[in-house]
This record gives sequence, C-alpha cells and structure tokens, in this order.
Amino acid sequence: MAQETVFSKILRREIPAQIIFESEKVLAFKDVNPQAPTHIVIIPKKPLRDVLEATVEDATLLGELVLAAADIARAVGIAQDGFRLVINTGAQAGQTVFHLHMHLLAGRALEWPPG
Ligand code: 5GP
Repeated sequence: MAQETVFSKILRREIPAQIIFESEKVLAFKDVNPQAPTHIVIIPKKPLRDVLEATVEDATLLGELVLAAADIARAVGIAQDGFRLVINTGAQAGQTVFHLHMHLLAGRALEWPPG
C-alpha cells in the first residue's frame, strides 16, 4: 500500500487542490508545479504506490485512469492538438510522490524522447 502522501491529503481535502474531475474511484487536479500549460495529475483513490503494486484486480481501475484522461482532454479542449500521458515509476524515472498517478500534459510541443 502507498504510505501517507500529499495526494492522500488532497483526497481527504486536508490541503487544497484545483480539482478538475472526480468519479467514484478517480480524482484529477491541477499540478502545483506545472511542466506545460495544461498539467493535470490523475490518481486512483485507492492508495497504490505505483504500477508495480497494481494487480489484475486493478485492471479496471487502471483503465479508468486512461478513460478519465481522455474525458478531461476533451473537456479542457486539448484533445484536438494532442497531449501526453506519463506515469513515472521509481526514483530514476522521477517519481516523487509514491501514490500512483498519471500526468496529463498538453499545451506546448512536447519533445521526444523525453528528458
Ligand atoms: P512525480 O514526480 O511523482 O511523477 O509527480 C508528482 C507530481 O505531484 C509533481 O508534478 C508535483 O508537482 C505534484 N505535486 C506535488 N505536491 C503537490 C501538491 O501539494 N499539490 C499538487 N496539486 N500537486 C503536487
């Protein structure tokens, strides 16, 4: 299980966040330190540490994160120009918050390969 993180506090509304989307199992909010004009973090409410901790029981939940991203992309008007979904896993990949999350990035040209 994920330890207590800043995202747990956002889920419990103990610290503020600009919430963009909420469903029974998913929450999405603006990243506090945006790396693109649109930078939204999409998390499962279930406190999984990362994708390595997910099991087949979480397959539907993982799918819901991607479908939420697509819904959000349409809702905020970035679907046409394009966007990137990123799940950093582990320190070398840049994961800093150990509650599984997906970044939705858009609004500028995104380089490939990523840094
Ligand atoms: P990671 O580096 O783990 O892939 O992504 C964690 C993200 O969470 C970072 O982009 C960081 O800016 C964001 N973040 C960290 N603390 C907070 C917070 O208190 N509020 C919000 N909205 N985002 C946060």
